[in-house]
Amino acid sequence: MPEPRALTFEAPGRARPPRHLADLAPAERRAVAVELGEPDYRARQVARHYFVRLTDDPAAWTDVPAAARERLAQALTPTLLTPVREQVCDAGTTRKAVWRLFDGALVESVLMRYPDRVTMCVSSQAGCGMNCPFCATGQAGLTRNLSAAEIVEQVVAGARELARGQVPGGPGRVSNVVFMGMGEPLANYRAVVDAVRRLTDPAPEGLGMSARGITVSTVGLVPRMRDLAREGLPVTLAVSLHAPDDELRDELVPVNTRWKVAEVLRAAWEYAAATHRRVSIEYALIRDVNDQAWRADVLGSRLAGRLAHVNLIPLNPTPGSRWTASRPQAQDAFVRRLEAHGVPVTVRDTRGREIDGACGQLAASSGPD
Ligand code: SAH
Repeated sequence: MPEPRALTFEAPGRARPPRHLADLAPAERRAVAVELGEPDYRARQVARHYFVRLTDDPAAWTDVPAAARERLAQALTPTLLTPVREQVCDAGTTRKAVWRLFDGALVESVLMRYPDRVTMCVSSQAGCGMNCPFCATGQAGLTRNLSAAEIVEQVVAGARELARGQVPGGPGRVSNVVFMGMGEPLANYRAVVDAVRRLTDPAPEGLGMSARGITVSTVGLVPRMRDLAREGLPVTLAVSLHAPDDELRDELVPVNTRWKVAEVLRAAWEYAAATHRRVSIEYALIRDVNDQAWRADVLGSRLAGRLAHVNLIPLNPTPGSRWTASRPQAQDAFVRRLEAHGVPVTVRDTRGREIDGACGQLAASSGPD
């Protein structure tokens, strides 16, 4: 039996981040404007500056009287993220940002520009309480949940860099958001759903992204997966499975001791049925741990005929880890076995490895600034 590992779903007793317009629905923003003695349409003007013009300086809000700008900015667009550092690789098209939050907590986001799309990988918690032993974020435990606006701000920051031509390839837009940075998104359910609404609300009240471009990744918090299926938000659900059998998954994804593989997959198929979206099954290939051909067969038979595809991730070893990525032959054999079951499979690229920006490497250590 593996040692039972502690799971943390809540980090109580932390101060809440300042309220921001990205935490609020449009009607709530109007109420804030009115409380400040301003006409309610100021809320929409500020939202347009934030989500459409991507300005971060109230002095540029020239349609708002100068005297009102500072008050509105304090109430609706307080500074939430302060850049600590940015590391780039792939000729500037992969960019990891480290942010300090109002209370000193650190989180990371990664922008990845491809020829046909730009993906932002965002954090939903500072740290993570799920304790998966192969993941860098899990090692430090959970600091706290992010607010919806702290999540949205990571995307807006990337959108600003793109709009301003600071990312090689010319001005561009964020097309995809993946909740695959630090944290377990479904353990911070309310803020994550609110953030998705802000990302998908039509401009100027939100960023106007397609829900189809958004992926929420989970260790398999079954009750929250069911809740998400009922939100009417057709985001892609990714399930971090990593093992098709309970014995190994209990060790690799400790929350499996609470919700077993069969229950997690049942909730995944319910999600697929409710949203008509193909579920992504994430599987980090770990040499001699979960990459055996027989496990590919068990996985293939559990997924055959389902609305699913498998995303294999070569393990990004974390510092001091006893585990490493699979041998190429084992990886190829794993792919072929899954395909023999008729299961679609892709191998994820490992962008950002050299800047510790690849999957499972986000730890936000406060190294040299
Ligand atoms: N908590 C969520 C989202 C964050 S992690 C989840 O677990 O799904 C995003 C993905 O990266 C998950 O599939 C996670 O299991 C995977 N991952 C974590 N550490 C990794 C590592 N060292 N190498 C490869 N993938 C890793």
